Amino acid sequence: MWRRVTSLSHLLSSPKSSPQLTPTSYGPKIWETLSTEVSKKSGGGIFSKERSPFITFVLGGPGSGKGTQCSRIVETYGFTHLSAGDLLRKEITMNSENGAMILDTIAKGKIVPSEVTIKLIRKAIESAENDKFLIDGFPRTEENRIAYERIIGAEPNIVLFFDCPEEVMVKRVLSRNEGRVDDNIDTVKERLKAFRSLNLPVINHYSNKGVLYKIDGTGTEDEIFERVRAVFDAWK
Ligand code: UDP
Ligand code: MG
Repeated sequence: MWRRVTSLSHLLSSPKSSPQLTPTSYGPKIWETLSTEVSKKSGGGIFSKERSPFITFVLGGPGSGKGTQCSRIVETYGFTHLSAGDLLRKEITMNSENGAMILDTIAKGKIVPSEVTIKLIRKAIESAENDKFLIDGFPRTEENRIAYERIIGAEPNIVLFFDCPEEVMVKRVLSRNEGRVDDNIDTVKERLKAFRSLNLPVINHYSNKGVLYKIDGTGTEDEIFERVRAVFDAWK
């Protein structure tokens, strides 16, 4: 079964507050109400009183199941899925201004500069009409997170973290055969290193804020989705 994060085992500290997750305490307008509160709190940024979507960050190491579970969330709850990795890969395919730099960075398992990624996320949010977004694989670093908050002007409503042992993640990545330039053992090792040193502090930050939901990322796609459902059904 799923459980809400109270601590991220030995790696993460305990949250100072907990998300309010009592399903019965919210009516059907929950997405709208909560996201309006968030945007008012942060001020500035790209959202207005008329438009303040519900934002979910989806985090986890390479091969932890972020993309797969995001597709299921889209089907069931009608979110718009923005994968930071996919947005960056699209720039490579389109041979855009930053394409070559992005390819080189991804091939090395390093992190693309915040401004580049955030510009793509911002454009995607602005061109979608939905009021519910999944931002998958971002923020990767504390610097990403702080730049996002400054530019977009809102914090995420909730953050999902797919927690998965490294052996499981490596096995999944090396067997998925999607033709990705970074799905090889050397780059996977770099990506795991980046995940541990740069992404875990971000996860820790959201745990401390009480908005993080840690989901056991092991098992079948259906088993994991049952854990995800428990989070979203409580928020609906
Ligand atoms: N990436 C990045 N910033 C982001 C998201 C992705 O620099 O905000 C780059 C980074 O090099 C990462 C790669 O894109 O290793 C692939 O990311 P994605 O989330 O698609 O894959 P995952 O690591 O989850 O398998
Ligand atoms: Mg992905």
